[in-house]
Amino acid sequence: MAYNSSSISPFETASKLGHINVIESEWVQSLVKEFESNNYEISNSEKQGWQKAELDGISSLKYYWAVDGSYVSINSETKPPKEVSFVKTALISIDKSKLENIDKDEPHPLQLQDIMTNSAVQHATVLPLKNIKTAMGSNYDAVRYIIRDSLKIDQKGMFYETLKWLVYEKWTVNLTSSPDFQCPHCDKEINGLYPDKDQKNCEFCGKEVFLSDMLGFHLDMNEESAPDSVSSAYMLIMEHLMLFTIIRLLWAHNDKNLVTDTLFIKDGPLTLRSQYSKLVPKLRSFLEYAKLVQRPIHIIGQEKSGVFTDHLSKLSRELEPQDRKQPMHFSVLTHEYIRKEVYRTPGLMNAYGKRTNWGEKMYVKVDPNSYLVINVPTGQYQDINNYPQKSDLIGLPRILATLPELISHRYTGALFPIELANGIASMSSYPSSKILQRFLEASS
Ligand SMILES: [Zn+2]
Repeated sequence: MAYNSSSISPFETASKLGHINVIESEWVQSLVKEFESNNYEISNSEKQGWQKAELDGISSLKYYWAVDGSYVSINSETKPPKEVSFVKTALISIDKSKLENIDKDEPHPLQLQDIMTNSAVQHATVLPLKNIKTAMGSNYDAVRYIIRDSLKIDQKGMFYETLKWLVYEKWTVNLTSSPDFQCPHCDKEINGLYPDKDQKNCEFCGKEVFLSDMLGFHLDMNEESAPDSVSSAYMLIMEHLMLFTIIRLLWAHNDKNLVTDTLFIKDGPLTLRSQYSKLVPKLRSFLEYAKLVQRPIHIIGQEKSGVFTDHLSKLSRELEPQDRKQPMHFSVLTHEYIRKEVYRTPGLMNAYGKRTNWGEKMYVKVDPNSYLVINVPTGQYQDINNYPQKSDLIGLPRILATLPELISHRYTGALFPIELANGIASMSSYPSSKILQRFLEASS
């Protein structure tokens, strides 16, 4: 996803509310007053937890990799309209020495292009969403098979191998089974696949199921059609698989320090929701293992929209640094803080993010104009008070030491590697939608 090019407040539009009759209600009046007010009262408890980054003697990370994705759904002009979705993801490595020479305020496009030359791996696929019949079978099965084949064929199966590496925990000698999942044929909850298997027959209906079915895309579909959410889920899963492909390859590299000297950057939070969260314990398990064997993996996810970025943008004015001579400051958000100050639901008792998040939230203010929300993994989750603290976040000092080198000043809190990955993964580098449409009509 692209950075927001403007952060203009929506308050100007609020005056339109004056025309509505319910404005006579005191409740509505107080709501409108709050809506139109540009002042946000910041409580002391909201400002708690901020500290100066102590980075003397901490070396920044030497290499950067970033991943991003996009998708677009296209309708044909036939009747009934056919709909397909194109999904594209990109993983790029960024040459630090070239990045250092770039003007952070007015980067030259040719220099940016030079950074990216020969440094990107791309993945793309097309999924049938509506009114597409193939000779091979139903839409439901088409999506299942295309997902399996897309994973298996591209880059000679490298991304599929990463799926197996994660699911079966292949970094250890004792491989695990895959998580249990719902059979795409009979809907029954079935046992996971045995270590390193690609498929099995359902113990209830006897039909064949694939390892890729374990992820659960079929739970978002019905027999005739699939919604957009299948495309966004596929994009998200591929972003994870691509990022962990380079992690897996560097993990096995002869130079054992390489993986630890690298910053891996994902656009968006380190989160997998609903059925896709089955991968979260696997990601946590690897990151914990890497930490224990003293080969910590440095990963950040950047949140560019949502409740945390909104909250930080309200706070940022009152926080240090206020001028460029002051050092970077940051705050690791404890679950209590998130409940009380961000979501304002302090009573909720369930463990925040335990099932769906594989990174914890933090705020960073790098310089007076650059503040950002990032997620950093901890390895295993801990259900204790005041969790997490800065020492729980894997490799936080080196991550903080690296951030100033990555800041782009074109958008608030933008990071160059993500901007560059955006450029490659965005659909604007696809053929125009007319061409996609023609493709759709020609292939019918
Ligand atoms: Zn079955």
